[in-house]
Amino acid sequence: MKYVSTRGSAPELGFEEALLAGLARDGGLYLPARWPSFTPDMIRDLAGLPYSEIVLRVLTPFVGKALSEGVLRRLLADAYAGFGHTATVPLKQLDSRLWLLELFHGPTLAFKDCALQVLGRLFDHVLERAAQRITIIGATSGDTGSAAIEACRDRENIDIFMLYPKGRVTEVQRRQMTTVKADNVFNIAVEGTFDDCQDLVKALFADTAFRDDMALSAVNSINWARIAVQIAYYFAAATALGSPDRRVAFAVPTGNFGNVYAGYAAARMGLPVDKFIVASNRNDILTRFLKTGSLTTAEVQPSLSPSMDIQISSNFERLLFDLYDGDGKAVAEALAEFRKTGRLAPGTARWKKALQLFDGARADDDETLAEIARIHRETGELVDPHTAVGIAAARGMIESGAMSDADTPVIALATAHPAKFPDAVERATGIRPPLPANLADLYEREEHVSVLPNDLSQVRDFVRAHARRPAGRTVGVA
Ligand SMILES: *Cc1c(COP(=O)(O)O)cnc(C)c1O
Repeated sequence: MKYVSTRGSAPELGFEEALLAGLARDGGLYLPARWPSFTPDMIRDLAGLPYSEIVLRVLTPFVGKALSEGVLRRLLADAYAGFGHTATVPLKQLDSRLWLLELFHGPTLAFKDCALQVLGRLFDHVLERAAQRITIIGATSGDTGSAAIEACRDRENIDIFMLYPKGRVTEVQRRQMTTVKADNVFNIAVEGTFDDCQDLVKALFADTAFRDDMALSAVNSINWARIAVQIAYYFAAATALGSPDRRVAFAVPTGNFGNVYAGYAAARMGLPVDKFIVASNRNDILTRFLKTGSLTTAEVQPSLSPSMDIQISSNFERLLFDLYDGDGKAVAEALAEFRKTGRLAPGTARWKKALQLFDGARADDDETLAEIARIHRETGELVDPHTAVGIAAARGMIESGAMSDADTPVIALATAHPAKFPDAVERATGIRPPLPANLADLYEREEHVSVLPNDLSQVRDFVRAHARRPAGRTVGVA
């Protein structure tokens, strides 16, 4: 399998190279050159398989010959062994129409674990074989940091440094990062804001000598392998409800458009999907695009679902590539225009094409709290605010009759455990959700963190002093 860039002027890469590269050299994102296609029989056969087996079947065409089946199977079994539910991604019925796909049983209680637990192991395996070592550096405002740390902890060929703004992440979020005890994990509390952390990381990547020396890399949401791994739960949930002999719809709370794009990829591979309901909070650039046909940026505003407080959705570029019929040059031009003017209007025909599979709805904080309360009242379930945004959007769309078929089940993706956002859940229901058993002692665990000033040279020196020296040739990283 070969991968091409959405901007059309980077070299084609194989799976391993695309995995390590992340961003393409022309600034684009990697995509498969051709979509693998699953026949109805192949899809039917997935029903009821153990989850890691479904991931194996979905991932195999994307990996190609890069990894043997035995290696991949072992790696996946290991990645999902740490999930706190025997079904890995259980599907729960909420009412006659609505289902909840729980993607939050991983070690950091958010759906990002579903892909990152696999990605850390994939990186490590590929690096081991090439006798390489990398240093991952990231900035986090909370959620992504802990998922990346859990993915990379104790990996032989990876060191990870995570910068977060001191005093500006929640205690659960901080403790999920700092209580990890591993020789290759370094938490840095920066005396500054999240933007300061991001600027420091950008400056470290811009220092080419340092970047090459340390073999810097990132595990952010533009990495193709993350998308590829996420495709599997769309197949798992849909086949559990009768696919391919019954169409389903998905409601997906969105920030970077990564999760819902993985669903779109499943549809491209042959899964019959009626609709993807793109759900946003007050930061609604994507739902506004679907309503108006034009992508226009706005100021990011804080909400009760902070992991979706995004106004530039990086993975949307992958959908644009298809809307522009694979014309990378046209995508690059449209994005340059967007950066300059804050507006991207691909034209009515392309907008209509997007509307064939996507529809959008938003929920503000009040609607989010009302949805958490309603779900609890009607079903006894507690849902986190991100999940509630998705359910609210789905409910709106069902009630307005926007769904074409009145019997199509709607699967809402539950992206975080309610205990990860206990304040919002308590405000809505009066109940403070307890942490699951494997994290129950989170508040007693010892923390490991270094406090540094918002100063580039001190952060650089810290990384140099603590990274285990990268072995062998450095990898090309963007
Ligand atoms: C990251 C995240 C999202 C958004 O996912 P995207 O792939 O960026 O669309 C939604 N909910 C939670 C809990 C998250 O952590």
